[in-house]
Amino acid sequence: MKKGDYDLVIIGGGPAGLTAGLYAARARLNVIMIEKVVPGGQVLVTDLVENYPGFPEGIGGAELVQKITEQVKKFELNIENNEVVSVDLSEQVKKIQLGDRIITTDTIIIATGASPTKLNIPGEDNFYGKGVSFCATCDGPFFKDRILAAIGGGDTAVQESIFLTRFAKKVYIIHRRDQLRANKTLQERAFANEKIEFVWDSVVTSIEGSSDVEKISIKNIKTGETKQLGVDGCFVWVGIQPNTDFLKDTVALDELGFVIVDKNMQTSVSGVYAAGDARDTPLRQITTAVGDAAIAVSSAEHYISKI
Ligand code: NAP
Repeated sequence: MKKGDYDLVIIGGGPAGLTAGLYAARARLNVIMIEKVVPGGQVLVTDLVENYPGFPEGIGGAELVQKITEQVKKFELNIENNEVVSVDLSEQVKKIQLGDRIITTDTIIIATGASPTKLNIPGEDNFYGKGVSFCATCDGPFFKDRILAAIGGGDTAVQESIFLTRFAKKVYIIHRRDQLRANKTLQERAFANEKIEFVWDSVVTSIEGSSDVEKISIKNIKTGETKQLGVDGCFVWVGIQPNTDFLKDTVALDELGFVIVDKNMQTSVSGVYAAGDARDTPLRQITTAVGDAAIAVSSAEHYISKI
């Protein structure tokens, strides 16, 4: 029977991809992990991970990635820095178009994660890198004693705003409702933080300034009232979107573009699995991503032994 170059290709190197790599390398599969930038994914820019078991004091996102990467390298996982442009899943041996060549494989695990959603308001693109940011650990230290706006009410907005208060003298959290989506522990911490002020029921309509961000315009969606807030930076944390564009018309995606899988993490195509934030899941955490990955590799192993 015709076989691909690899038993398994893992696309993406966040916690799901790395864990899939760990399991596959330990299972002695002929496996390669393709990562576009550097392994780690969104966790790399997370200041503190407090809900991953085994680290009672919490652990820095970058440090956790470093530990997982070390563990994976111990089992000699082949990691390649390359971009997956497209996939052809029409035959049993699947083709993956990389930036510079095509590779073939019997199974694939899609672990490409998700990226921050943009607000698409005036000023967001123009001031990107000049006060507009999606990453507190990257840009927070530039705002010592400054005033910042953080937009969103989920775990990311609240957790990262708390981190920003290490540097900034004030952080406005601007949320479109009057209740946060973030977990209760984070909420309690944010409410107790004197540097954080909430602006409820409000959306940011534009980000303005001359060379750098100087102010934002806000609209209260209940009263219709508009006002301007003087800020030196504006962090946007209004959710995530899946990195699944390269899959177009190959596997079933939900209406937001997340990959639909069954309980074995199998997509609509036999031998193709998804794990972590890129899949349709009720919970997006490191713990759930690594669990998905273990299931996906086990499913891939069954499939490989069957064919
Ligand atoms: P999220 O949970 O989807 O929250 C997005 C927030 O942005 C929501 O509060 C939402 O408001 C708001 N929003 C969405 N679109 C908006 C718009 N156009 N204008 C203004 N506000 C808008 O996204 P996330 O916080 O990035 O988290 C992503 C996933 O990662 C979640 O599953 C989260 O639990 C997980 N995560 C977990 C941790 C942790 O465990 N410590 C840390 C970070 C992330 P509404 O509430 O009104 O919808």
